[in-house]
Amino acid sequence: MKSEIIAVGTELLMGQVINTNAAFLSEELVGLGYDVYHHSVVGDNSVRLREMIELATGRSELIILCGGIGPTEDDITRDVLADYLGEPLVLDEEGDKKIKAYMNALGRSITENNLRQALIIKNGRGIQNPTGLAVGTFYQRKDKTYLVLPGPPSELKPMFFDEVVPLLKKMLPQKEFLTSRVLRFFGIGESQLVAELSELIAKQNNPTIAPYASPNEVRLRLTVKTNTGSEAMELLNQKEKLIMEKVGEYFYGYGEKNSLAQETIAALKNEGKSIAVAESLTAGLVQSTLGAVPGASAVLLGGFVTYSNEMKMKLLGVSEKLLEEHGAVSKECALAMARQTQNKTGADYALSFTGVAGPTEVEGKKVGTVWIALATKEGETVVKEFHFQRDRQYIQHSAMMNGLNMVRK
Ligand code: ATP
Ligand code: MG
Repeated sequence: MKSEIIAVGTELLMGQVINTNAAFLSEELVGLGYDVYHHSVVGDNSVRLREMIELATGRSELIILCGGIGPTEDDITRDVLADYLGEPLVLDEEGDKKIKAYMNALGRSITENNLRQALIIKNGRGIQNPTGLAVGTFYQRKDKTYLVLPGPPSELKPMFFDEVVPLLKKMLPQKEFLTSRVLRFFGIGESQLVAELSELIAKQNNPTIAPYASPNEVRLRLTVKTNTGSEAMELLNQKEKLIMEKVGEYFYGYGEKNSLAQETIAALKNEGKSIAVAESLTAGLVQSTLGAVPGASAVLLGGFVTYSNEMKMKLLGVSEKLLEEHGAVSKECALAMARQTQNKTGADYALSFTGVAGPTEVEGKKVGTVWIALATKEGETVVKEFHFQRDRQYIQHSAMMNGLNMVRK
């Protein structure tokens, strides 16, 4: 079903408030199975708002308006929509009672402006507001549905979940439903991933393929519309197979929330292996991220935060000579840190991080230079050099992700 969102408020046009309601509503609508075709923003101006409503009515079946139903003069949304529909405004009894009770409890007099917030469009139904006073309206005529909601996200969201979702679910043709699967990739940028999959993406239909990036990883959301669950699984499996043929080497896990740290813990648990970490530039980030995963205790032994050279010597026994000859940001230092950590903890895997998080060079090594080493109980070692870009936080995060990826492989 074709839907669109109109956010009302001059503050949105001026850039003072970000239109998060549109993002929220879209995500929810798409999840329910609606097609969202347009987002618009209109100021608190009745002529332009009416034009927008006319345009939306011409092209969409569900039109959601948010913002501009408060008590002040510039709150015109419900008046303009009522006027457009040729319906009067009427008092919503429940909303009216609530406003009166609220004002009485505060000992304030009840003004007409306050009561305006309980007005809904005649022949529509009121949407109650558990966290505010403005009542929303749900109005249907022929094949068009209008929904009016308040601007503050703290009011809009509960109203949407409590009352709107059940109404929207009822409006959809019962048979088809949406199923999504999220694939997560590490070690490949979003643009490269999209390029590798360009043919698949160009031909996408059912399932659709939506790539989105977050720091150091890319996700693909496959969404399929079907009548049965087994049909959904079949179509998703087929598409996933085609995707894996192209970029399978970068795939690391499923799901919206499963992080690389979670996958690492799960993989180690599976193998019955333990891990310890020595951290210089990440200063504990890796251990704290692993430790945040429920069940980490089964695999994470602990480790060392050796930010300064002194601590690398004191806690890990890295030699002064090594530090003088090669510096702390070096292959040799990373290897020594990993080996010593393995020795001291007895872990199956010991991972070490040393590098330059910035903002300034260290030992003549550029910001973003990072060495990561992995030492195993069997005495094997792997060491890699990386050159990360951007800011300090990103460099630390990149180091962690690449280190975890070394353990996984
Ligand atoms: P109020 O009763 O607070 O006046 P309202 O329904 O009249 O509510 P607006 O006056 O349009 O809504 O907006 C009130 C506040 O809600 C804005 O200042 C802003 O903080 C927030 N807001 C409005 N629209 C949006 C939006 N589209 N996305 C995120 N926040 C919004
Ligand atoms: Mg307002």
